[in-house]
Amino acid sequence: MSKPFASSADLSDKQQNLEILADGVYALIAEGDPNVGAVEGEDFVVCFEALATPVAAREWLARLREHTDKPVRYLVLSHYHAVRVLGASAFDADVIIAHDRTRELIAERGKQDWESEYGRMPRLFREPGSIPGLTWPTQTFSDTVTIALGGDRGDLILQHHGRGHTEGDIVGWLPRQRILFAGDLVEAQAALYTGDAFHREWSTVTLDRVAGLGAEALIGGRGAVAHGRAAVDAAIAQTRNFLQVILREVGDVQARGGTLKEAFQGAHSALVDRYGGWPIFEHCLPFDVARAWDELNGVERPVIWTAERDREVWNALQD
Ligand SMILES: [Zn+2]
Repeated sequence: MSKPFASSADLSDKQQNLEILADGVYALIAEGDPNVGAVEGEDFVVCFEALATPVAAREWLARLREHTDKPVRYLVLSHYHAVRVLGASAFDADVIIAHDRTRELIAERGKQDWESEYGRMPRLFREPGSIPGLTWPTQTFSDTVTIALGGDRGDLILQHHGRGHTEGDIVGWLPRQRILFAGDLVEAQAALYTGDAFHREWSTVTLDRVAGLGAEALIGGRGAVAHGRAAVDAAIAQTRNFLQVILREVGDVQARGGTLKEAFQGAHSALVDRYGGWPIFEHCLPFDVARAWDELNGVERPVIWTAERDREVWNALQD
């Protein structure tokens, strides 16, 4: 019997827990669904990630409003993926910040990504008709932007550390509190989606820089908050290992003239013991291996995923 496509059969709601990591630093953790966060300034709030629809985002904002009624000045988008950006209109943010490349990717492939992600993860698109259209950042940058939070709250520093999960990932770093919002560059006990990734750069220089921040708490794109340096290091190491295993397995199969299907089977058996029980492992792996296959074949930029290409790759590998 064939497996249900991606996460299309995953229809049961996840428990969402609001964690307060420091004074005015919030994370909504969702049992392997996309995490979001917020940081309070003296007279404003910065929200990190927007969820898949305005209706889903408003539920998160209602939770946040139990703790602060300050207006949302900044909405930070860690990268272009639909399940993290299409709820943006709910925030009424003065400024929507993302990386330069994120804006370009939305223009190039935002529509296809929306359709692809909706097909893969329909449960996350709560009331999809509430999405007004693509989300456009109103401020973009290439390396770093510092937001002064005011009072004695310190700064929130938005940084690009190189290509990784996408071409334009940014993290949110609170140096005073030593808390890192890592977006999908780091997952904590959740499988990685690498279908739009740069495996080699991500697994080396980009993660080296993220690790070099020395965070004491890390909110990954999915999975639990990593509390303490040991847990942060473990989340980063787990992310790096997942990428290295895919590169090794796909590279080995290519070196002996094997097929994409063999590469998928090799990566699956090498990863399943350690990662197979974590959220979205079976969902992600066909897309991950397909991109790694291209990358190692010299395809510089990820091929655009469409709803049709998703099904083709899935049917070729995951049946
Ligand atoms: Zn993503």
